[in-house]
Amino acid sequence: NVKERGRNDVQFHTLAMSESVRQRATLENDLRLALGRSEFRLDYQPKIQVNTGRMRGVEALLRWDHPEHGLVSPARFVPLAEDTGQIVAIGEWVLRTACAQTQAWHAAGYPDLTVSVNVSACQFRQPELVDTIADILAQTGLEARYLDLELTEGVIMQDRDDVIETLRSLKKIGVTLSLDDFGTGYSSLSYLKRFPIDFVKIDQSFIHDITTNPSDASLTKAIITMAHSLGLKAIAEGVETDGQLGFLAKHRCDEVQGYLFSRPVSSTIIDAVLCGSFVLPSSDLPDHCHLH
Ligand code: C2E
Ligand code: MG
Ligand code: MG
Ligand code: MG
Repeated sequence: NVKERGRNDVQFHTLAMSESVRQRATLENDLRLALGRSEFRLDYQPKIQVNTGRMRGVEALLRWDHPEHGLVSPARFVPLAEDTGQIVAIGEWVLRTACAQTQAWHAAGYPDLTVSVNVSACQFRQPELVDTIADILAQTGLEARYLDLELTEGVIMQDRDDVIETLRSLKKIGVTLSLDDFGTGYSSLSYLKRFPIDFVKIDQSFIHDITTNPSDASLTKAIITMAHSLGLKAIAEGVETDGQLGFLAKHRCDEVQGYLFSRPVSSTIIDAVLCGSFVLPSSDLPDHCHLH
């Protein structure tokens, strides 16, 4: 009976809704305790220079190992942490941990490695952001030029006058800036020149079909060309196939990141990559990648 089923569906829907609201509240609460319970860790994903095949640096990616649910995706908990403001404390932990780890890599004999840290909108709005970062650099001993901050378009396109000022202050202390997920937001290419950034990261949604979808291909080419004409470097994220790598190399993309080279891995695996006992698959970059 359709009518009855209809009524049951409504009931079910309401139950499901309250269940998801309850889950969210529980997760929010667990998130509040997570830092104190040491449930966070960082994984690191290599950034590979296309023309040398070298790992120039790594991107730190936050992982939450929930006591009952196991790994919770940052796509799920980072927005929650932003809504509740907890991302500020968590983000500070991420910065400190990533800088300390990178300083340790430098001390172990790999003095050129850079680390990229994702910074959320809420963190970026904190008036203390620049001082906090300067303090963390001083305390960990990491030179500022080895820290890169990844900001999304949403972060720097906020309708506020002091955005450019904050970016300039960050540049002044010596860190580099990357525009993450480029192409997914509402900024135009020419907008880029207003911001004192160093790297443009082309969003993985464009890279995915780069070899089959002509508009993704021409968009990616245009972003690389525009980045270079503004003196910026182009990085492609989500590179998974040799075909994608070949396209990016041919069009002079500077750096690549993706499962083709490595998933985000623990600092221990990065140690092994650095000392040469674990060789990234793309240490044999195809011939077409050796351009210079
Ligand atoms: P993002 O900064 O754009 O990071 C790239 C995401 O793509 C990561 O997901 C990474 O694991 C994934 N990825 C890398 N290579 C490939 C690939 O070849 N194929 C596919 N399909 N995916 C790939 P993850 O680690 O789940 O992080 C998701 C997002 O969560 C990040 O996007 C970033 O926006 C946010 N996030 C992660 N860590 C932090 C953090 O410490 N602070 C803040 N504020 N946000 C973070
Ligand atoms: Mg990122
Ligand atoms: Mg990204
Ligand atoms: Mg992303």
